[in-house]
Amino acid sequence: MAHDMTDCCIIGGGIIGMMSAIELSTSGMHVTVLERGRAGTESSWAGGGILTPIYPWEYPTFITELGRWSQQQYVELSVYLQHRIGIDIERIVGGMIVLDADQASRATAWAAAEESVLSLITAEEMLTYAPRLAADLPQHGIWMPEAAHLRNPRLMTALRKLLPEIGVQLIEDCSAESIILQKHRVAGVATPTGDIACETVVVAAGCWSQDLLTRWIGESVIRPIRGQILLYECEHQLMAPIVVQDGNYVIPRKDGCVLVGSTLEDVGYDKSVTEAARTKLTAVAEKLVPELTPDRIVRQWSGLRPGSPQGAPLISQIHGVAGLFVNSGHYRNGILLGPGSAKLLADLVLERDPVVDPRPFQANDIQAADVCGEPAHCASHNGTPDAF
Ligand SMILES: Cc1cc2nc3c(=O)[nH]c(=O)nc-3n(C[C@H](O)[C@H](O)[C@H](O)COP(=O)(O)OP(=O)(O)OC[C@H]3O[C@@H](n4cnc5c(N)ncnc54)[C@H](O)[C@@H]3O)c2cc1C
Repeated sequence: MAHDMTDCCIIGGGIIGMMSAIELSTSGMHVTVLERGRAGTESSWAGGGILTPIYPWEYPTFITELGRWSQQQYVELSVYLQHRIGIDIERIVGGMIVLDADQASRATAWAAAEESVLSLITAEEMLTYAPRLAADLPQHGIWMPEAAHLRNPRLMTALRKLLPEIGVQLIEDCSAESIILQKHRVAGVATPTGDIACETVVVAAGCWSQDLLTRWIGESVIRPIRGQILLYECEHQLMAPIVVQDGNYVIPRKDGCVLVGSTLEDVGYDKSVTEAARTKLTAVAEKLVPELTPDRIVRQWSGLRPGSPQGAPLISQIHGVAGLFVNSGHYRNGILLGPGSAKLLADLVLERDPVVDPRPFQANDIQAADVCGEPAHCASHNGTPDAF
């Protein structure tokens, strides 16, 4: 069976593939998203939904710039999805408290350079923002009042519903086997149910992108880094801010659910959840918010982040192959960077003026040895993906 011809086939229906599809489709292209399972149920479902890196000062300026553009888009996007699809993605600007006081001077220098709102606050002040925090807090913390988060499973459901409404063809339960070339240009994508003919292919297959791209970008440039999360249930919203310490975080949802994460594990494509992670995260939760006792845990899951050199995504044409693009490797920040990455990708495909300087995101000359060399903190869930 042959599939319909399309202008552009996007491989992967995570946040990056779906947002790229929306950008290209609203710019007039006929777009097909090819997803081997159900769209939005891998890393993009499993993440915490924080709309800032947890230590933003550890990232290069080009990530800050793409992140800032994306943060602004979420303001409108959340309203648009509520009206068009009827789903509240629960974007909340509750602020973020970072309890690692040793980061204070870097954080304030970064905030001054980037004109970001950030201040150092006392333990007393922390308790006014988050009264449920443990009493034995460090004397000082870092306060970022503009930090936001959203409920990514809801975002995934909303994007999946939006695709057909704006004319994007979503083909699920169908895997891309290979990219079909004619001489040095793209001719389509091979699948078990026939080829999809197209002149543009975007590889947005998260940590699995590597398999499709090895011959062009080298080995192990994009690779899975497992993250596990514990879900707690409380009777009502526990507090507003996200709280971060030692690379771990507590994210309160509106309805009393609380996410505690996450691990950084280099274990290949293994999505198991482990007792060791449960023990570690249980201790983190109780230390930061004593009310988060183990009897409140209702679920544990894992997801595979697309790790990349310095945690920076590859958003680029693949050199030497006309029509082949990559948008992948967003590591810990794919929810945050989704809108900007999709916009930049569309700018490159459509040869428009790029939203940010595209050079730091280019896919050539990647050094595999750098993969996941994210400064300081470098170390799918199981079950029904609709909830939480
Ligand atoms: C525990 C955890 C916490 C996180 N917290 C945050 C956070 O707070 N904030 C933040 O910004 N980011 C966070 N992230 C990172 C973020 O989730 C990822 O960077 C982002 O989801 C990557 O999106 P993606 O679309 O590239 O990948 P995915 O969501 O994994 O999507 C890739 C899709 O491609 C499909 N696919 C793969 N191979 C093929 C093929 N051959 N053919 C067809 N389809 C294919 C897969 O089935 C999958 O659906 C977190 C991640 C984890 C795991």
